[in-house]
Amino acid sequence: MDNKNKAIIENDLILIGGGHSHLSVLKAFILNPIKGLRITLISDVYQTPYSGMLPGFIENRFTLDEILIDLYKFSSIGNFRFIKSTVKGIQGKKQLIELENRPPIHYDFLSINIGIVNDKTKIIGAEKYALTLKPISKINYSELTNKLENKTIGIIGAGPAGVEVALALKKGLLIVKFTYFVVKKAF
Ligand SMILES: Cc1cc2nc3c(=O)[nH]c(=O)nc-3n(C[C@H](O)[C@H](O)[C@H](O)COP(=O)(O)OP(=O)(O)OC[C@H]3O[C@@H](n4cnc5c(N)ncnc54)[C@H](O)[C@@H]3O)c2cc1C
Repeated sequence: MDNKNKAIIENDLILIGGGHSHLSVLKAFILNPIKGLRITLISDVYQTPYSGMLPGFIENRFTLDEILIDLYKFSSIGNFRFIKSTVKGIQGKKQLIELENRPPIHYDFLSINIGIVNDKTKIIGAEKYALTLKPISKINYSELTNKLENKTIGIIGAGPAGVEVALALKKGLLIVKFTYFVVKKAF
C-alpha cells in the first residue's frame, strides 16, 4: 500500500466484551465511521448469541447457528481490530489493558461491557440444579433444549427475559406447568 492511502491512526478506542451492547456500538461505527479512530474489540469468545433471539432458539424457531454472531467476521466488516483474549486488568495511569497470554495494549478511549454473572452462591442448591442464561458465553445449550420435555420448570426472576423464556419453553416443548419466583427488592 502506498503512503497516500494509509489511514493515519490518531486515537485508539478499545471495546472490552463482544456482547449485545458493543455490537450495537460497532454497528453505529460501521454506519458512521470516524476518521483517524482505530477501533479494537476484545472478547474472550469468538461467537456470541444475540440474546433477543434466545427465546426463539428455545422455542425451536431458530437454530444455534442462526442466533450466533461471529465476532471476527463482524469486526472485519467495519475494519475493526479483533483480539480474542481475556482482559485481566487495566492500568489507568498508563492507559494500558492487560490481556491473558498477550502483551498489554494501549487505549485512548475505553468502553467496558462484559455482561453480568448470576451469583448462584446466594441460592442454596442453585449451583447444582439451576441453569442460567448469564454469563451469556457460558450457556449450556443442550441442557436448555434437550432435557426439559414434560418437566415442571421453576423460573427465578419474572422480568421480561424470564417471561419470554417461559413462553418459548411452553411453545417449543409443550411444557404446561410453571412456577415463577419473583425476587422482591429489599427496599
Ligand atoms: C432470554 C433473554 C432475552 C433478552 N432479550 C433482549 C432483547 O430483546 N433486547 C435487549 O436489549 N436485551 C435483551 N436481553 C438482555 C441483554 O442480553 C443484556 O442486556 C445484554 O446482554 C447486556 O449486554 P453486554 O454487552 O453488557 O453483555 P453480554 O451480552 O453478556 O456480553 C458480555 C461479553 O463480554 C465477554 N467478556 C466477559 N468478561 C470478559 C473479559 N474479562 N475479557 C474479555 N471479554 C469478556 C463475555 O464473554 C461476553 O461475550 C435479554 C436477555 C435474556 C437472558
